[in-house]
Amino acid sequence: MTLYCGVCTLPVEFCEFGKTLKKCKAWLQEENPSLFDVLYNSNNESSLSSETEAKLSSSIAKMQLKEERKQERELENLKNSKILIKRIPRSKHKNICAIQNLEILGNDIDLKKTAKKFASKFATGSSVSKNAENKEEIVIQGDVGTEVEKIILEMMKERGLEIKIEHVTERFTNKKR
Ligand SMILES: [Zn+2]
Repeated sequence: MTLYCGVCTLPVEFCEFGKTLKKCKAWLQEENPSLFDVLYNSNNESSLSSETEAKLSSSIAKMQLKEERKQERELENLKNSKILIKRIPRSKHKNICAIQNLEILGNDIDLKKTAKKFASKFATGSSVSKNAENKEEIVIQGDVGTEVEKIILEMMKERGLEIKIEHVTERFTNKKR
């Protein structure tokens, strides 16, 4: 009978080829200590010299550690990131709406195409431009923040994501550069 790993879902004999060996081992030790001993604590003869084996396993361990750190970092980034909807006054009665970080919804997000969609949806101007921090953002002419939020929430739902959306209102200044 094959035991499938509760972490990486592979048969437990193959965990060492996956990227989550550390977690897999911890799981197996809990789940089936005797099988754990067979797989990981036995000194059965190996075709590799022990030196080669040590080098190999240390490089695999390094790779796995790197991958684990990367996954943790990505998860952390996603948790910390949020989409900003900025309301920027351009005159006393005119606001524009800038959307920042929309690309965190996925690699397939094309800012230019999305800006076009907004333009036709709201029948107004919408384009991609670089902000003061040199980051690309979508700028829509008009006070459409609330409607934009609804659309973004819909996009998140389709992707099964829950990312914070924050509204920011910039203060009106008469300064012109
Ligand atoms: Zn596993």
